[in-house]
Amino acid sequence: MSIDYQSLAVRGVQALSPYQPGKPIDELARELGLNPADIVKLASNENPLGPSEKALAAAREALSELCLYPDGNGFDLKQALAKRFGVDMSQITLGNGSNDLLEVVARCFVSSDSEVIFSQYAFAVYPIVTQAIGAKGISVPAKDWGHDLDAMAEAVTDRTRLIFVANPNNPTGTVHGQEAIQSFLDRIPASVIVVLDEAYCEFFEGEDAPDGLKLLSRYPNLIVCRTFSKAWGLAALRVGYSFSSPEIADILNRVRQPFNVDSIALAAATAVLDDEDYLQRSREVNAKGLRQLEQAFERMGLPFIPSVGNFIAVDVGDQAMEVYQSLLKQGVIVRPVAGYGMPKHLRVSVGLPEENEKFIQALEHALDAVNRGE
Ligand SMILES: *Cc1c(COP(=O)(O)O)cnc(C)c1O
Repeated sequence: MSIDYQSLAVRGVQALSPYQPGKPIDELARELGLNPADIVKLASNENPLGPSEKALAAAREALSELCLYPDGNGFDLKQALAKRFGVDMSQITLGNGSNDLLEVVARCFVSSDSEVIFSQYAFAVYPIVTQAIGAKGISVPAKDWGHDLDAMAEAVTDRTRLIFVANPNNPTGTVHGQEAIQSFLDRIPASVIVVLDEAYCEFFEGEDAPDGLKLLSRYPNLIVCRTFSKAWGLAALRVGYSFSSPEIADILNRVRQPFNVDSIALAAATAVLDDEDYLQRSREVNAKGLRQLEQAFERMGLPFIPSVGNFIAVDVGDQAMEVYQSLLKQGVIVRPVAGYGMPKHLRVSVGLPEENEKFIQALEHALDAVNRGE
């Protein structure tokens, strides 16, 4: 008798669709017979500068100890983070990317009869980790592409255990200032965990720039998640971290895998925190690139969502998938966001000036071709 293994998967997992990552360069090169060196990938919000030299040197040095288990407590990295951000080491939890932490938080606090709140157009990982547990995800309609924080606060019920707030948000690039976040937190019962996902916080330094860290002492239910994948340029190594109360960190620590961050990643992340120059260049290249893309979209008459991240969502019209395909054929990978309910938009990560230029020219060509019905 053959067994239907689908039906054996737990209920939430049966209906789950996997996270859709950006298309890898080598995959496109194989499919179209292109030279990988000619392909520009602006699809996963990666840092276009390449890794920091300091991080590379530390990673190389760590290679000589590949036979040893990593430090499961991540002492050096936690110490460096504690020093940089003025927190106690007991408030820090390390993750295999911040994705890992988002999932660990859900597994610690959410059961199948609970509800988890997030916004429409918010990061795809929130509904995935919610559904994997079999919990009910409450997607609150967005306002002007950003979170409707009032509506999210009103959506809290006695079953709500967790709220995810991406700030800035991906894929829209919208942001809420510190005051808005604070008045939101004021409305949330202390028994509901709030994750402030600040994966892109380093790119935004405006006057009212949100900073979850400054709110930690006031809101014991708050967890602030950050990552080395974006501004710090270490996406391949998978290192994320969270700040919370020591009590919450202790809970997260019980569920995370004991060696969830490997020794190369620990060494590189610890070293890059000293590379202030790299961070500064990341910010500058990003700010310039964002302007370059915005100006091109304005010239082409394409509506875009103003972004404070290292990516921007542009409205290319009803034939966004055709435009995406045409860009691929020209060796430019961006990210369709139809899966986020944004079928007319493409999300473009900010690259180096010449990469942005290649994308802009390819986009003009793609729009021409699609308009001619080719
Ligand atoms: C990229 C991103 C992350 C970070 O992912 P890592 O697992 O740390 O690489 C987290 N949240 C959002 C909203 C992101 O866009």
